[in-house]
Amino acid sequence: MVKDIQIRIQLEEEKQKDSLKKKAARHLGIDSKDITAVKVLRKSIDARKETIFFNYKVAVYIQEALPNTSEYTFQYNDVSTAKEIHIVGFGPAGMFAALRCIELGYKPVVLERGKKVQERRRDLRAINQFHIVDEDSNYCFGEGGAGTYSDGKLYTRSLKRGDVRKIFENLVYHGAPEQILVDAHPHIGTNKLPSIVQNIRETILKFGGEIHFESRVVDFIIKEHKLQAIRLKDTKEIPVQAVILATGHSARDIYYLLHQKNIKLRAKSFAMGVRVEHPQQIIDTIQYHCKGKRDEILPPASYSLVHQVNHRGVYSFCMCPGGFIVPAATAHGEVVVNGMSPSRRNNQFANSGIVVEINAAQDLHKYEHFGVLKGLEFQKDLEKLAFLAGGRTQAAPAQRLTDFVEGRLSNNLNPTSYQPGLKSAPLHSLLPKLIGGRLRKGFAEFGQKMKGYYTNEANVVGVESRTSSPVNIPRNEHLEHPEIQGLYPCGEGGGYAGGIVSSAMDGERCAEAASGNL
Ligand SMILES: Cc1cc2nc3c(=O)[nH]c(=O)nc-3n(C[C@H](O)[C@H](O)[C@H](O)COP(=O)(O)OP(=O)(O)OC[C@H]3O[C@@H](n4cnc5c(N)ncnc54)[C@H](O)[C@@H]3O)c2cc1C
Repeated sequence: MVKDIQIRIQLEEEKQKDSLKKKAARHLGIDSKDITAVKVLRKSIDARKETIFFNYKVAVYIQEALPNTSEYTFQYNDVSTAKEIHIVGFGPAGMFAALRCIELGYKPVVLERGKKVQERRRDLRAINQFHIVDEDSNYCFGEGGAGTYSDGKLYTRSLKRGDVRKIFENLVYHGAPEQILVDAHPHIGTNKLPSIVQNIRETILKFGGEIHFESRVVDFIIKEHKLQAIRLKDTKEIPVQAVILATGHSARDIYYLLHQKNIKLRAKSFAMGVRVEHPQQIIDTIQYHCKGKRDEILPPASYSLVHQVNHRGVYSFCMCPGGFIVPAATAHGEVVVNGMSPSRRNNQFANSGIVVEINAAQDLHKYEHFGVLKGLEFQKDLEKLAFLAGGRTQAAPAQRLTDFVEGRLSNNLNPTSYQPGLKSAPLHSLLPKLIGGRLRKGFAEFGQKMKGYYTNEANVVGVESRTSSPVNIPRNEHLEHPEIQGLYPCGEGGGYAGGIVSSAMDGERCAEAASGNL
C-alpha cells in the first residue's frame, strides 16, 4: 500500500536519523518497521516564524517495494534521414525544441551564433578581466543560451503552458540532480549547467540531429509570404521548410532585421531596474531570525519582494542567494548586470534584480517615434548610460543602497562579487524618474517588510535591463507568424516565455506545431 501524506518537521528533528520514517509512522499510526520506503515528493522550508519547519509531501510505502522506474522515459530514435526542422538559437527553447523534434521523428538542424560551452568560458573571462565583449559569445549567447551561466533556478508560473515535470525529468535524464524533482524552489547552479547542456548536445547528435556553432543567422529569404531560406553571416544560404526562431531577448539584430523587412512585431511591456547586493549573512539573519551564522542544515536564504509604487509594480527578480553579479552585455558600449550562483550557493553575497514594470503603451512617450521598437531603444539607452557612468568599461555604476534612496553620491562602496568592478555613480539622479523614483520608494518599503534589508552594507548596481523581451513577435493559433509561413517565433525572444523552464516548454510546443505543419 502507498499513502501520500504531508509532514512538518522542526529544524532539530530534521537533523536526526530516519526522522521522516519515524514521523510518517506516527502520522499513520503504524509501526515504522512496516514502512519499506518514504519517497519525498515535495520539500520546502517554512521560516515565517521563529521556529523553522521543513514541510514535506511524501509517499509512504507500507509493506510494498519502492518502484525504480519513472513514469517518464525518453526514447529517441534515429532521425538522420527524416524531414528537417531548422532551429535558430540553442538556448533552453532551442534545446528542448530539438529534443522534441527527435521524439516526434523529425531532424533538428540547429544554428547557433555562439560557441560550445567550454570555449564560451574563455570569452566570459575576457569580459570579466579585460572588459572585452564578443558579440557572438558572452553570458547570453552561446551553447545553452542565457541559461547556461545562470543560477539555473527552475521555478515557473507557466504551469498551464506545458508539462513542467517532463522538463525536469528530462534535465535529470541529462545529468541534473534528482533533488530538482522535489524541491519547492529547485535550482541547478552554474557549475552543473554546462555538463547538462553538453549532454543534451550529445543526445541530439547521437540520434541524427545537427548543431552548427558560430553560425549566426543574418537574413531570412521570404517569397510570397513563405520563408524559403535563411542566410548565415558567412553568406551561406540554407533552404528551409520550417524555422523555429529561438534567439532570445538579447538578439536585437533579429528584431531589427524583422522590422526592416516589414515583418509584423509588437511593442511589449517589460521591466528594468538595478541589482542589489547584500552580504548573504544579512539576508540569512532576517529570513531565519538568527544572529550571526544560519544553522548548517539551512540553505542560504532567499527573498521575494513586491510593492506597488505609482501604479507600477516594483519587485525582486531572479534572486541569487550565495551568488555573483555577472556582466551580461552582448555588445561593446553597454553595461548590463544579471545574477548567477553555483549549486551550493556558497558565495558570501546575496544579489537580486529589483525592477520596475515598464508599460509599453503608457511609459515611453519620448520613444514613440521608434514605433514597435520603442522599448528596445529605451533599454539600449539605459545600458549606454550605465556604460558611460561606469567609466566606459564593463565596470558597473553603483551606489550604497541608503545613499541611492536618500539621494547622495557614495564616497565609497561595499565589497562586491561583480568581477569587472564597480564605480561610484549617482544612480539616483541618472536613472529616468519612472524607474529611479519608484525604485527608491520601493526599497524604503522593502526595508519595512524585511527589517535589516535597508542598510548601507548593500550596494545597488546598474543596470538590470534584460528581464524580458521588450518586443513580441506575433504568432497565430498554430504558433506560426501570421504573415510568414514557416516561421515559428519561440521562447523568450518571441515574448512567449520568461526563464529557463517556460522557454523549454515553449520550445517543445513550437516543435510540435512546426512538425504538424510539414
Ligand atoms: C546571468 C543570467 C542568469 C539567469 N538566471 C536564470 C535563472 O536562474 N532561472 C531562469 O529561469 N532564468 C534565468 N535567466 C534567464 C534565462 O536564461 C532565459 O529566460 C532563457 O535562457 C531564455 O531561453 P531562450 O532559449 O528563449 O533564449 P536564450 O537562452 O537567450 O537563447 C537564445 C540563443 O540564440 C542564439 N542566437 C541569438 N541570435 C542568433 C542568431 N542571429 N543566429 C543564431 N543564433 C542566435 C544565442 O546565442 C542564444 O544561445 C538568466 C539569464 C541570465 C543572462
